[in-house]
Amino acid sequence: MSVLVVGSLALDTIETPFGSVEETLGGSAVYISTAASYFFSPVRIVGVVGGDFPKGGMALLEEKNVDLEGLEIIPEGKTFRWSGRYHYDLNERDTLSTELNVFETFDPKVPEKYRKSRIVCLGNIDPVLQRRVLDQVDNPRIVICDTMNYWIERKNSDLLDTLKQINILILNDSEARLLSREPNLIKAAKVIRAMGPGAVIIKKGEHGALLLTENMVFSAPAYPMENIFDPTGAGDSFAGGLVGWLARTDDMSEENLKRSVIYGSTLASFCVEEFGVDGLKDLTYLQIQDRFRSFRELSRFDED
Ligand code: AMP
Repeated sequence: MSVLVVGSLALDTIETPFGSVEETLGGSAVYISTAASYFFSPVRIVGVVGGDFPKGGMALLEEKNVDLEGLEIIPEGKTFRWSGRYHYDLNERDTLSTELNVFETFDPKVPEKYRKSRIVCLGNIDPVLQRRVLDQVDNPRIVICDTMNYWIERKNSDLLDTLKQINILILNDSEARLLSREPNLIKAAKVIRAMGPGAVIIKKGEHGALLLTENMVFSAPAYPMENIFDPTGAGDSFAGGLVGWLARTDDMSEENLKRSVIYGSTLASFCVEEFGVDGLKDLTYLQIQDRFRSFRELSRFDED
């Protein structure tokens, strides 16, 4: 197996009801590759940063054995920046600013050695860039894509073009409603599946996630958490856990897809326990397995 991840590498400024951080390490590619690295390595990354990208960020990716050959560094450029504020209901987030910076002129180049990657994970970036990456990969076995309201609203027709080439789309409930123009999530998934992806995963924050294919609806519980400090990156950690598990097992059956959704939820639950990427930095495989098992207990019951 081989995994290619494309996405943002960012400096995030985050406010939650519990505190705030400025210009901390973030970005979809950082969360996805860090989460996936607990299952599979090396994860290959395609992205861009400016000369101001912190050494600590590079060190974390190196420590997780992420392959950085596809990471472009523009010494005179500024790294992508994003800033957001969460409400008391942590499912509600206002984006305060998005500065694309080096992403504005980014033309992704997939290194020769990455072109035969079997799993491609398109993190949340401009759908035009997502497609340019896909154009440079030879016949991947599975393409997983994440997106967000920013692109659904601003680059709708480009996103629709990208979706034609996707096997699994991951998005949250409000994004699913926005993309499909359908309030009911089961109907929304049908509408989205007709756009291309054979499987749709709809994340519902603290209420778990739904996996919908032609033949099944699987409802994954959310881990009941008392301490959620910062939901930033939960969605990307989810994608990373899911992709990492699929790469580790090389099994794309529906049963294994269900397991991958629970591994995704497991990594997301660790992510939100601390600010930024801190919750993902120092996990062990044993800790991940323990939490995975407790997910199973959450919704297991006897018939009589
Ligand atoms: P999540 O909380 O999983 O939706 O992801 C949050 C991460 O997405 C943050 O680390 C941001 O840097 C990154 N992000 C936010 N908006 C964008 C965007 N428009 N394009 C690319 N990455 C973004």
